[in-house]
Amino acid sequence: MLEVIIIGLGSMGSSTLYYLAKRGVNVLGLEQFGLGHGEGSHSGQTRIVRKAYFEHPDYVPLLESAYEGWKEIEEVSGRQLYYPTGLAYFGEEEHPVMQGVKFAADTYNIEYSILNNEYSMFTVPDHFESLIEPGAGFALTEQTINTFAEEAVKLGAEIKTGEKVLHWKSFKDGVVVTTSKAEYRADKLIITAGAYVNDLIPAFKSSMKVTRQLLAWVKPKDPELFELGRFPCWMLTDPEFNGLFYGFPSLPVDQFGGNGLLKVGHHVPGEEIRPEELPDYDAKQESDILISILEKYLPEAAGSIESVTACMYTNSPDEHFVLDRLPDQHNRVIIGSGFSGHGFKFVPVVGRILSDLAVAGKTSLPTGFLSLDRFKNPDQ
Ligand SMILES: Cc1cc2nc3c(=O)[nH]c(=O)nc-3n(C[C@H](O)[C@H](O)[C@H](O)COP(=O)(O)OP(=O)(O)OC[C@H]3O[C@@H](n4cnc5c(N)ncnc54)[C@H](O)[C@@H]3O)c2cc1C
Repeated sequence: MLEVIIIGLGSMGSSTLYYLAKRGVNVLGLEQFGLGHGEGSHSGQTRIVRKAYFEHPDYVPLLESAYEGWKEIEEVSGRQLYYPTGLAYFGEEEHPVMQGVKFAADTYNIEYSILNNEYSMFTVPDHFESLIEPGAGFALTEQTINTFAEEAVKLGAEIKTGEKVLHWKSFKDGVVVTTSKAEYRADKLIITAGAYVNDLIPAFKSSMKVTRQLLAWVKPKDPELFELGRFPCWMLTDPEFNGLFYGFPSLPVDQFGGNGLLKVGHHVPGEEIRPEELPDYDAKQESDILISILEKYLPEAAGSIESVTACMYTNSPDEHFVLDRLPDQHNRVIIGSGFSGHGFKFVPVVGRILSDLAVAGKTSLPTGFLSLDRFKNPDQ
């Protein structure tokens, strides 16, 4: 008899599969597409990983655990998945992002310092603050998912790809999951369905907003300046725009595959869509904004945009994650959702937390601020 079924083997589901298999749990992971595909929230090769968490300092203890998890999966697999390039932050001193970075770093003794024009390719105004978090960097997305899944299979987990879950139901004595191909029974169910969560939990429809996000690859005027080893990851706030702009160093094609170009993006919720509408977009406006930002702050990078990729955020009402058991489901259904465009760096720790919730019904990691309770109307 299966003990746990996971719906969705993307970022969070693949690491959850690994942590369950490591505990000796009989687990099946179901994925509607292949592993590391382009129709979810993880496409585009890389994600920034950082600890000085301006979104909410309570994430920092979870990030300490995530960093241990990144190390563990690299050691177990023998593959490098995390690259500590350093992360440069630029913005007006009083901007909430810059304030939040310093607050989290000071509270939790995270190493950071003021930049003194070490990265002279940035042309930021004198009144901007420039900081560097040297322990931050980026992780490889598709490789991370494949690696967690492969290591889970080595430990006895079962995976079925190309199998879409149509519906599920919980009972006093277990859960039943119906897919496009079969029906499965288990003790517990974990739903890590990313942007497709509203199809599986209709009650989430009014709260989880799925948005289309574009990533652009730019051919810099002087490519050598921006190569891995020479150029860091970066984040920048501009007084004219909401959210923040970010980018990565260019990665050598012989080592990383991909296109070897410079990846840039704008972290702000985009157009609200249903997942099936993902490929249907016009990138002109977003591309113009990105080029204007590069011309202003990183002029040697402001060449031409060579390609654009669309992927999705699943935004919770407060843009914080939801890691919890679903109410009224006989304590059998666990959810990892609402990663709101900042979840990937947590992949290893989310896997640990969701496996704790499935096996023990609780976790020793401090996740109270990510429970479903916080959305309850206090007047009810
Ligand atoms: C443009 C962009 C930039 C980002 N930048 C960063 C960053 O720099 N740093 C950072 O930390 N985070 C970043 N994020 C966020 C991060 O990538 C996401 O939070 C994370 O990938 C979410 O993981 P997930 O497991 O919820 O979704 P996914 O990785 O999409 O996995 C969900 C999986 O469930 C499967 N599934 C869904 N429904 C079913 C079904 N019915 N049956 C079977 N399978 C199903 C899907 O096919 C998918 O594979 C970014 C996101 C985007 C879009």
